[in-house]
Amino acid sequence: MYPLQDTDFMPLRLIAEPAFYWLTGEPLSSSIIGEERGGTEMERLLSSCFVAILVIAMALTLCLRNPVRLRGSDLFRSYQRLVINLETYSWPSIEDRHFIVKYKQGDEASARMVLQEAERVYQPLGAYFGYFPGKSVPILIYPDRVSLNRIFGWGSDESAMGVYWAGVIRVLSPLAWMDDPPVNQQQQIFQAQGPVAHEYVHLLVDYKTGGNYPRWLTEGLAQYAEETVTGGEPPDRERIAVTGVTIKQLDSRFDDPVWQDYSYAVAKDLVSSLIDRYGPERMRDLLDALGGGQPMDKAFAKTYGINLDEFIRSYNGSQC
Ligand SMILES: [Zn+2]
Repeated sequence: MYPLQDTDFMPLRLIAEPAFYWLTGEPLSSSIIGEERGGTEMERLLSSCFVAILVIAMALTLCLRNPVRLRGSDLFRSYQRLVINLETYSWPSIEDRHFIVKYKQGDEASARMVLQEAERVYQPLGAYFGYFPGKSVPILIYPDRVSLNRIFGWGSDESAMGVYWAGVIRVLSPLAWMDDPPVNQQQQIFQAQGPVAHEYVHLLVDYKTGGNYPRWLTEGLAQYAEETVTGGEPPDRERIAVTGVTIKQLDSRFDDPVWQDYSYAVAKDLVSSLIDRYGPERMRDLLDALGGGQPMDKAFAKTYGINLDEFIRSYNGSQC
């Protein structure tokens, strides 16, 4: 679907909430962790140490160069898995070989739909990107936009259908956006319009690069792959030039309502152009170079033999 609104960037709330919870035994916000929980002094001491290590790791991740950032990325994903286990410990779940889907009571049909779609895209997307996660991937289903938006502190005007962040995929229940189609058509509609493939590409890019990637690259790849790798349809080429904004500035415009449609369209076209010209193998090489810790400019030049600015000029010239 297009444009699928999602994000890779979360407020510090997702760190502060569980940290506060473990340190004090009191939920900072009952909206995220709805159960009171005590804890022994030892538990709190261990939790304090864990949070302190996490804060240091986060500081290093933000301040230092890529090798440290990569390790910080792994640590942070592990922390997020701990957080969601707390957040969803009472939720029912179903699982298959590669995914575990958690959902709210009464939404089991949606969970089965999501799980089936996730298992469907696992192999083709993994083969395309040359990456298969070693662990079962968690997918959380939220019953409505309010509950999904609340996790990230978003207002009611956000219309995200799916979000990937730090090793966890969160999706809006199909019940919230499907117009009650016949049961035998629901899986097909979810496959065509649902966010699972798109968000799973974000996960693959994140893991393969160790979190070292620009937003335009992951958004472009997610749209490209959900159409060409798992959708079986040629991508809709919009052919929009990068004008009025640099490629680096573009990364900060995805969540700006004025720039959102443009940003997604350009990202998809940039990635499509790269893959059309140089092939998918080079794209995997680029992701590998990023995963090795190289900055984007250096990884791009090494992979494609031209620098990113030259490619953008060439790309803009081909839009006429
Ligand atoms: Zn996306």
